[in-house]
Amino acid sequence: RDPAADLAAELAARVAAGERRALARAITLIESTRADHREQAVALLAALPRRQALRIGLSGTPGVGKSTFIEAFGLMLTGLGLRVAVLAVDPSSARSGGSILGDKTRMEQLSRDPNAYIRPSPSRAELGGVARRTRETVRLCEAAGFDVVLIETVGVGQSETLVAEMSDLFVLLLAPAGGDELQGVKRGIMEMADLILVNKADGELKATANRTVSDYAGALRLLRKRPQDPEGFPKALPVSAVEGDGLSRAWEEMQALARWRRETSHFDRHRAEQAQSWFLSEVRAGLLARLEREPAASKLATLGAQVATGQADPVAAAADMLDFLG
Ligand code: GDP
Repeated sequence: RDPAADLAAELAARVAAGERRALARAITLIESTRADHREQAVALLAALPRRQALRIGLSGTPGVGKSTFIEAFGLMLTGLGLRVAVLAVDPSSARSGGSILGDKTRMEQLSRDPNAYIRPSPSRAELGGVARRTRETVRLCEAAGFDVVLIETVGVGQSETLVAEMSDLFVLLLAPAGGDELQGVKRGIMEMADLILVNKADGELKATANRTVSDYAGALRLLRKRPQDPEGFPKALPVSAVEGDGLSRAWEEMQALARWRRETSHFDRHRAEQAQSWFLSEVRAGLLARLEREPAASKLATLGAQVATGQADPVAAAADMLDFLG
């Protein structure tokens, strides 16, 4: 018998039984770059039972209230008897400026809740690597029996797209703003959103927040209708993470949307597409990794040098290299 496979099967069983320490160990294993760990991680993922959580992607610029929202929203969900995992995709390798996503001190009460699990972003420089590991961690959390997996990211660049691509629902958290600032949200991001929540709809900001909701509701109506949306979606709503206002409404809307998509098979179709593109990106990443390992790395260097000196034609050398990879 293969001892690595035995180890993976045992760890998978403990994760599936809901053991927190096993989950933490499994995530650490998955985040490791060591070749033997990777092998175990692959075996572990294959041994996991198939369970489904609602995967909710949440994006918002720093300061918009993501941690305050996740803390309040997460506690509301655990209060309903649901188990909630919070993961983060942090695009900033340096982690300078702004808070660390998924940092437990940002969600103190939730981090102490036995029905919640918070995991910060894997510390890897490259965003693609972070996304790959997060996808695997989502699978672990589902196997561990979590009902809801929240994946948060900051609203910059590619990270939003990556999170949207691993979520069932994508929520954009925005701050109250004057009409001009509506332009600040890129059209592409608006088109990914299933729900726009305008946070800080309380106190002096309440009126502005409500106006912002109307502005975005108007902007959403102008977008092309998507087949995966029932009447009235995507939607914009006001919330106050601090006061807790609008959180249960937001949850009802998320559930209504998920229910509709399940009934109309958009939910499963979306997951099937995601699984397929996950598979393809794993194959691509694996091929690239092979190029960096021996014997391919030396062959690549040799052919590259020959191309540089004109001894070999670039196209022929590339064909040679691909033959070599088999
Ligand atoms: P993050 O960087 O997106 O995680 O934002 P934080 O959750 O750290 O919140 C940034 C600031 O906004 C903090 O000072 C919060 O107290 C404040 N904040 C967050 N949510 C609300 C809210 O619903 N209403 C008001 N008035 N302030 C909020």
